[in-house]
Amino acid sequence: MANKILFLGTGANDWLIEKRMPGMYFRRYTAALVNGEVLIDCGPHIYDYVEECGDPHLLDNVKLVVITHRHSDHFSSASLMRLARNHGFDLVCDDFCFEQIPDKTGINRVQVPLYKKTAIGEYKFIALPANHDVRGAGKDARHFIISMPDGKELYYGLDGTWFTTSEWLVLKKHKCDLMVFDCTIGSKKDARVFEHNNVSMVRMMAKQVRKKDVLAPGGKIVASHFSRKLMPSHFNTKLWLGLFGIKAAEDGMEIEF
Ligand SMILES: [Zn+2]
Ligand SMILES: [Zn+2]
Repeated sequence: MANKILFLGTGANDWLIEKRMPGMYFRRYTAALVNGEVLIDCGPHIYDYVEECGDPHLLDNVKLVVITHRHSDHFSSASLMRLARNHGFDLVCDDFCFEQIPDKTGINRVQVPLYKKTAIGEYKFIALPANHDVRGAGKDARHFIISMPDGKELYYGLDGTWFTTSEWLVLKKHKCDLMVFDCTIGSKKDARVFEHNNVSMVRMMAKQVRKKDVLAPGGKIVASHFSRKLMPSHFNTKLWLGLFGIKAAEDGMEIEF
């Protein structure tokens, strides 16, 4: 059976849920559910998705939660504690995030050191340093290469800009079946290019991963984490990226790989 990734949210931190109007196109903060078991990021919008998707049991089989970094669109201690009230799970996160959780009942912290392939249940993780600093040397966000139980590989690269050199050196030894790239800043070229990608950068990255066979034959590339102010129209986003064979994620999109 194919692996599945469900995008529960695909927006950057300027999608404010309190400003959502009926009928308005909306993205929640980025999060993804892999095979119904691995939740990547658990921010404050997670339960909004659960409540609106029509499946209140969507997160019932989550065994592991991976927090990429501490930014408030990716990490919410309230959402984690709510999940833990339902059932226990393993949690991958940095020290800062772990300390922020007032009640850790049901939460079992698991460490995934940088670069070291680490098995958690049937999944294997390689954590890589992202070019996305969270205020403090060595406290940058993490990207992950995740091996599925059937050996397929998922690269998840939110948030960040480009690949770091050391990340690229590891990626070159892999063949990813699905790659998720940050594409926060649309067609803009402002200072945020030092922490997030724009469309031109994503196109260049896609070209290189195809050329160097980091993307497996038949592999897919998805862009996500779009800013509301910079990428307001999903129609245009889809069109621009689609020209280069890159899928623009939107909330509720599911992809098999
Ligand atoms: Zn973010
Ligand atoms: Zn961030």
